[in-house]
Amino acid sequence: MDKWVVHKFGGSSVADASCFRRVADILEASSNPREAVVLSACRGVTDELLGLVSLAERPDGNIAAAIEQLKSRYEMLAEELLSRPAYEAYRTLLNKDCRDIAGVLQTVRLIRAATDSMRDVISGYGEIWSTRLYAAFLRERGRIPGEILWIDARQVVIVEWGPLGPAVQWSESERNLRQLVPENFQGRLIVTGFVATTTTGIQTTLGRNGSDFSGSIFGALLDAAEIIIWTDVDGVLSADPRLVPNAQVIDQLSYNEAMELAYFGAKVIHPQTMAPAVARDIPIYIRNTFAPHKHGTLICTHPVSALKVKGITTIDPVALVNLEGAGMIGVPGTAHRLFGALHDAGISVILISQGSSEHSICFAIPQAQAVRAEEAVRRAFDAELRDGQIQHVDVGLGLSILAVVGDGMAGAHGVAAKVFNSLGNAAISVRAIAQGASERNISLVVDGKFAARALRAVHAAFYLSPNTLSIGLIGPGTVGRVLLAQIASQVERLRALNLDLRLRGIAGSNRMLLEEGAIDLERWPQRLAEGGEALDLDKFVAHCQADYIPHTVIIDCTASAEVAGNYRDWLARGIHVVTPNKKANSGPLPAYHALKEAARAAGTHYLYEATVGAGLPVIQTLRDLRETGDDITRIEGIFSGTLAYLFNVFDGSESFSSIVRAAKLKGYTEPDPRDDLSGMDVARKLIILAREMGLTLELSDVEVTGLVPAALSACDVEEFMRRLPEYDASMAAMLAEAGRQRQVLRYVGRIDADGRSSVGLTRLDAKHAFANIALTDNVVRFATRRYCDNPLIVQGPGAGPEVTAGGVFADLLRLSAYLGAHL
Ligand code: ADP
Ligand code: ASP
Ligand code: MG
Repeated sequence: MDKWVVHKFGGSSVADASCFRRVADILEASSNPREAVVLSACRGVTDELLGLVSLAERPDGNIAAAIEQLKSRYEMLAEELLSRPAYEAYRTLLNKDCRDIAGVLQTVRLIRAATDSMRDVISGYGEIWSTRLYAAFLRERGRIPGEILWIDARQVVIVEWGPLGPAVQWSESERNLRQLVPENFQGRLIVTGFVATTTTGIQTTLGRNGSDFSGSIFGALLDAAEIIIWTDVDGVLSADPRLVPNAQVIDQLSYNEAMELAYFGAKVIHPQTMAPAVARDIPIYIRNTFAPHKHGTLICTHPVSALKVKGITTIDPVALVNLEGAGMIGVPGTAHRLFGALHDAGISVILISQGSSEHSICFAIPQAQAVRAEEAVRRAFDAELRDGQIQHVDVGLGLSILAVVGDGMAGAHGVAAKVFNSLGNAAISVRAIAQGASERNISLVVDGKFAARALRAVHAAFYLSPNTLSIGLIGPGTVGRVLLAQIASQVERLRALNLDLRLRGIAGSNRMLLEEGAIDLERWPQRLAEGGEALDLDKFVAHCQADYIPHTVIIDCTASAEVAGNYRDWLARGIHVVTPNKKANSGPLPAYHALKEAARAAGTHYLYEATVGAGLPVIQTLRDLRETGDDITRIEGIFSGTLAYLFNVFDGSESFSSIVRAAKLKGYTEPDPRDDLSGMDVARKLIILAREMGLTLELSDVEVTGLVPAALSACDVEEFMRRLPEYDASMAAMLAEAGRQRQVLRYVGRIDADGRSSVGLTRLDAKHAFANIALTDNVVRFATRRYCDNPLIVQGPGAGPEVTAGGVFADLLRLSAYLGAHL
């Protein structure tokens, strides 16, 4: 006989009419002759039914209206999915059920309290309604051969509730099922999840989220080949995706691992689901209804996986009760009395920890049981508390348990170290620890406020490359845009080297784009246009510094002093900064020192190679010289690509003003050419180098001789351009004079070890290194103790988006290397 396959669809998979169709598509795609389909209630319905009971317990709520509302949801659903006659038949049964519900609620209202069994009866209707509708819908679609048989699990599954939850009475349940389903059945069983009957014949449920358990009970009863649990995520994830957005699908899990994860809070599967499958070795798959092509997670006896840690979960809120006293040392039976008392009070203990000194013992319980637990403990140790053998019973509230689960942890070295290291780095203290002898689970108690951060930190330690960088880019303009294209071209290669660069935020001048995973480096302009929001720099930075990603870097590609004003704060907060923006380093000296100090104190990196000479290795060269003990005597050079160009071209054949005009048209100058001609840009670069040399100079200390005539310094750009020819004659005269001496004109910046620094137009011998440069070349000459007779020269194109972005990218890679990447 063909083997059964059992499917279970959760509430999220049957939320509305389109979900019903999707589920039907999945089932109709299978050619298996017999399958069982366990369904949950439509999303939210169980909560609503329980809400009805609470409403009835209050004197004022309008029960009839609430029932009507719920009923109309199903009527609408049925109307959309069924033909008229099938709809009418469905509605008749629905009406009857609603009358029954109203009757029970009336009783509740009279006695002002619902019994457990009343609650069970009412909360189970969601599954009855969804399955009845689904069976009718599948029958009408008629695409599955064989019979579509509706099964009310209350007539099959018999359980006995005990301290460990509902225990299935297997032989009785099997007998029941055999009476409903003939041996040679072909087709589909549509089965209600969640509901069951007690051995005394009273309707019950399997507990919240219990349809998963129903799925595996039916899997076992039918001796299925496999059980597939369909939900709204791609499988069991390494952590709750609502708390850890980059949680990853776990390929395979053992039954025990799955059970531990479920018990410790992974809501995706009910902890009791595994037991029936283990006994018969039935594989369980967790798959996504909304992405049925994905393979999901396989839960089985011998999973194949290289991962030591499979998942990390949290449970909260919990309370931690600590019992402390010298009188407990070496006294047998204390634990017995303690846990006996808790058991008598019906309290379930989640975690226990006792130091080997036996001086204290602590345990974690659901916070809702804290008051009762404390009373029970105080009662049990009343005498010891009075005579001081036990000094304290403390109850800590608002805590969380973090559990790290994986079979591979047993016997592996360093797993616990990694857990505690990552918590230490995230500045989270651990209140209690427990590791079972199986070593499948390390559980710790942390302050609830930090639970999400703790989870993310531990998750990152096990699941991310330690070289994962969250990147925020401010200023996607000329340089920023090219930088993103350069990163895009290398990102895959770098990932193969274990460097994971994730652009998670882009901020323009008034809009920004934030993404949780990573922004598509090819499509960011469209994404920014479509999905962007109004700029809020604080929000931007907070987003980029996601605590589940090991490192954050902000790349500032603006020229804004305001943005640069934030570096200090960012560096102090643990964010690295990379920038071609000169404003911070050439601003007031105290602010510069504060910036450097903030980076030093926080252990963050601040990199700005592209502030001088664009991509040329100027700052790094200077640093290398100094750090290896060389002394700089003078740095001299041409630091402006624009001015280099103007004087390279200015040979007398054309007036200076027309060269400026042409350069402006080609975009070689700033929109206002005076920003170049004033020499201030060169002075800023000199200051950056001076400070790098250890000099304490301010911008005002640089002697700047600019090329903007005083009379034209205040007018607007148009007037400036119009009147510039008035000065052509004097420029031509200077050029002619230089020519007579076999010299050329160059705009040079110079800085000496004693701090003297100047910027201005100079006449240089035609054979001088600075005389023979091409186009926008920058040239920087380092005269040092080692390089004295023949100085060290760095030369090459010193302007333009490609080379500037290249310089910024090189800094980004340098940063990654500092953080441990092996490139
Ligand atoms: P269903 O309605 O299918 O029963 P649930 O809402 O009960 O679905 O469970 C699925 C949800 O569990 C997911 O949407 C996810 O938010 C949550 N979840 C919590 N922890 C995990 C985890 N470790 N792996 C996957 N999902 C998890
Ligand atoms: N409908 C029930 C609940 O919400 C059972 C389930 O969905 O698993 O708890
Ligand atoms: Mg569920």
